[in-house]
Amino acid sequence: MATIQPLPDLLVNKIAAGEVIERPASVVKELLENALDAGATRISLTIEDGGKKLIRVTDNGSGIAADQLDLAVMPHATSKISSEEDLFRIHTMGFRGEALASIGSVAHLNIKSRTSQAEEGAEIHVAGEEIQSRTAVGCPVGTTVEIRDLFFNVPARRKFLRGANTEFGHVQEQFARVALPNPQVEFELCNGSRQVKHLPRCEDMRERISAFHGTEIAQDLIRIERDERGLRIVGYAAKPAQNRASGKWQYVFLNGRYIRDRYVQHAVKEAYRGLMEHDRFPVVFLSLGIDPEQVDINVHPTKIEVRWQDSNMIHSQVLSALRETFLQHDLTPALSARRAAAPLTSEQRLEERQRIADFFKQATPASAGDAPSRIGSEMPTQTASVSMADLAMRFQGGSDAESAPAGRVIAAETARVPVLQLHRTYLVTETDEGMLIIDQHALHERIIYDQLQRRIASGTLEAQRLLIPETIEMTSEHISVLQDHRALLQKLGIDFTLYGETTVAVQSFPSVLHNSAITPFVKDLADRLAEKGNKPHTEVLIHEVLDMMACKAAVKAGDPLTDEEMRGLIQQRDVVDKSSNCPHGRPTTLRFSLADLERQFKRT
Ligand code: ADP
Ligand code: MG
Repeated sequence: MATIQPLPDLLVNKIAAGEVIERPASVVKELLENALDAGATRISLTIEDGGKKLIRVTDNGSGIAADQLDLAVMPHATSKISSEEDLFRIHTMGFRGEALASIGSVAHLNIKSRTSQAEEGAEIHVAGEEIQSRTAVGCPVGTTVEIRDLFFNVPARRKFLRGANTEFGHVQEQFARVALPNPQVEFELCNGSRQVKHLPRCEDMRERISAFHGTEIAQDLIRIERDERGLRIVGYAAKPAQNRASGKWQYVFLNGRYIRDRYVQHAVKEAYRGLMEHDRFPVVFLSLGIDPEQVDINVHPTKIEVRWQDSNMIHSQVLSALRETFLQHDLTPALSARRAAAPLTSEQRLEERQRIADFFKQATPASAGDAPSRIGSEMPTQTASVSMADLAMRFQGGSDAESAPAGRVIAAETARVPVLQLHRTYLVTETDEGMLIIDQHALHERIIYDQLQRRIASGTLEAQRLLIPETIEMTSEHISVLQDHRALLQKLGIDFTLYGETTVAVQSFPSVLHNSAITPFVKDLADRLAEKGNKPHTEVLIHEVLDMMACKAAVKAGDPLTDEEMRGLIQQRDVVDKSSNCPHGRPTTLRFSLADLERQFKRT
């Protein structure tokens, strides 16, 4: 019989750490929240090697008294609650008294702190939860917590950490989740000795949104404000044109804490219904304020999920807040409105382009600069509409010569077969056995996907170097996702450099996408890659990107096609693998045999 025995403290703490501390970003969350709980008005975060080497948070909050320092790192020791009733009226970010003890069990933890009453500060060092030293030190009022070598004693976990860029990306996301709903606090983020973000105190979340997500979104925000039935809602909703490929851009805060909540998400989705395609996600930043007794935040180890007393009320209030505000606003994007009102003079535009071009003359790395430019100065980097000639070209394999001549020959051969386009969406044609109804977009998508996949297998996708790089404002997290996948993206024809902290400049773009807008494609791409999470298999990633490319490059439902184009498309159907389904698995073709038709018409 196995004997039952209590686990040693270190093990208990390590197990607890497993729940809350997954990666450097989780440590960052705990430390920033502690600083807020201490009433800090200035918080500085420094990261080295994605947080694997160092995470340091310095605050000017209340500090910890010297004789309490040992307690701070003990499990289940907290200054924030003391009774069971307190658990249901939590006004602080932390309350479990678990974070520092857990962190101390899986890293080197150093705390230096002084309260305003104390003449001097105190410092302790913890490693593998043993307190190694206690000393008196001179330091300003407030607290500095340093975490070094996270998971040094849990190799299995350390192994799961990703590259410094990715980990830093997660850190930045956590930083944003804390800084966004706390504009009254000044924040700083440093990567090594480089200051990445400095956020002075401000009145309102809007400035923070702009600092994290760029001015483009900040211009397109609608203020939301409502205070009814005990729920206060303040924040911003982006106009529908600012939609994204993932729900990650829905920031919801409850009493200053970032949460994910399906009721709120559903209400948001509902409010935007009909304003964007069904597979797109709106961008919102909502701060909810509610009496802590109306919600249980003690249901998830990292408190990211909550349980409402009255979830219907939450849903209906959020929905009404958004809906009613939308009704009072013009939802057209500011960008086009502004263009119409005061267009940039062509001179201003030229200047701007010149400035960017100059920057890249100096900054372009040699390898990228060496590649011969495939495009002449007359080549536009972006075209809004697709010409029919382009389509014809694409049906025959784009700029790839291998299938182009064949396309024409066989198109001529199949010229006798009737082909018809219905509703500018479906093609109907005759076969020896019966008839086909084809979804033009789905089939073209499959054909392009196949071609790309074959080309990828034999090397790199053909790319166009852009004469003027396309600059795109992005979150630093998304930038680091792109950086993480740089090699893969290069193989796929996408190359970029960094241009400032929150801007990437795309320098080459896959030829197959020569008619697609670059910015939305790259933004969606970053969204989708970020969603893939931990170390996805390269093949999965390639599928993801090719899938997006094929979808973008393919003709759309609603595009009128010439006779020749329809024939080109149908002819290629026979040469691709799995032509019966598009890359997402939807059917491209419905097949009716003569026997089917005869049965349906009761001819037999
Ligand atoms: P919790 O936040 O759940 O109370 P922690 O383990 O995060 O648990 O912190 C333990 C205690 O240490 C806190 O209750 C608080 O009293 C003290 N503490 C931690 N960080 C700070 C800080 N930056 N400033 C002041 N006190 C702190
Ligand atoms: Mg805490």
